[in-house]
Amino acid sequence: GDDLVTAVHRIMEHADSRAALKVRANSDNPGDSARARRFGAAGIGLCRTEHMFLGDRRQLVEKLILAEDDAERKAALDHLEPLQKSDFEGIFEAMDGLPVTIRLIDPPLHEFLPDITELSVRVALAGDGADAKDRRLLEAVNRLHEQNPMLGLRGVRLGLVIPGLFGMQVRAIAEAAAARRRAGGDPRPEIMIPLVGAVQELEAVRDEARAILDEVRAGSGIDVPALIGTMIELPRAALTAGQIAEAAEFFSFGTNDLTQTTWGFSRDDVEAAFFSRYLELGIFGVSPFETLDREGVGRLVRIAAEEGRKARPGIKLGICGEHGGDPDSVHFCHEVGLDYVSCSPFRIPVARLEAGRAAIEAAGASEGSDSR
Ligand code: PEP
Ligand code: MG
Repeated sequence: GDDLVTAVHRIMEHADSRAALKVRANSDNPGDSARARRFGAAGIGLCRTEHMFLGDRRQLVEKLILAEDDAERKAALDHLEPLQKSDFEGIFEAMDGLPVTIRLIDPPLHEFLPDITELSVRVALAGDGADAKDRRLLEAVNRLHEQNPMLGLRGVRLGLVIPGLFGMQVRAIAEAAAARRRAGGDPRPEIMIPLVGAVQELEAVRDEARAILDEVRAGSGIDVPALIGTMIELPRAALTAGQIAEAAEFFSFGTNDLTQTTWGFSRDDVEAAFFSRYLELGIFGVSPFETLDREGVGRLVRIAAEEGRKARPGIKLGICGEHGGDPDSVHFCHEVGLDYVSCSPFRIPVARLEAGRAAIEAAGASEGSDSR
């Protein structure tokens, strides 16, 4: 048993020593982060924050949605901030010394709102005696209801529509990093803005984030640098990557949404609706949600990487969609020259092996062509 473990370690180390791509993990809690580290993760490439607003915290989210003025909104955010701070502290601790990319909240709004049917029934049954808060909540939920939530009020749009929401998260990140540093740790935060389609969206969020980082720096006397970057997960973002790179210190390709929006396929519905027929007809051999579609989605990734590098030489480039753990897609990421892939903790070993293999193969190919 021990020999096998040693052999596997050697192979992994060999792969790492040859690889150009780093392998990071997608993780949003300390336990998964520690596990990812044991699997050899070089950091966290995607810490989704939307799950942090569910469970007990739903009450606070309802308050935020119902807030009728700045004071009410601020009260809800003030309750959320220390909770977020401790979320981030735990993750920084587990990933001490390694980069942690925290993505500002990106919920499809319907997952985040109270259930409309349940709420309607409750209000209807109560008739005139219905709770005033329930009525207001129902009104708000009706107002926010969307036919296409995945194309609706998500990501950066939500941050721009709810004042203070992203700011609260940025402050929590900065405070958590300062606290870790004070405790002797080495936090490496990276702040990531989701679903950007236009540089103007990013600029607005970046300016606010920078001001908050400066404020926390001045207040705490602790200077923890934090990169601010964006996801590239809409075709428009890929096509205007040159402009976007002027305002972004890194790009991370969100190939789940980029596949959805490039093909016009719903991430949530296609599987049942028509994918088996498409596979049967050979329209594609594998689902483009599993293996990156080089001709379409991949072409956008290449364009964005090229334009991004032109505008900001050395810009850090990664990928954090499900493709980050798929061998063929990892190979593609190597070819495009990304800096890292990020995948679920359990897929890290496979991604590390593939990153090494892609580099060894490429070296072999260039030696071959040299001798010809
Ligand atoms: C993506 O779209 O590829 C991504 C990583 O973000 P999410 O899956 O959370 O939308
Ligand atoms: Mg996405």
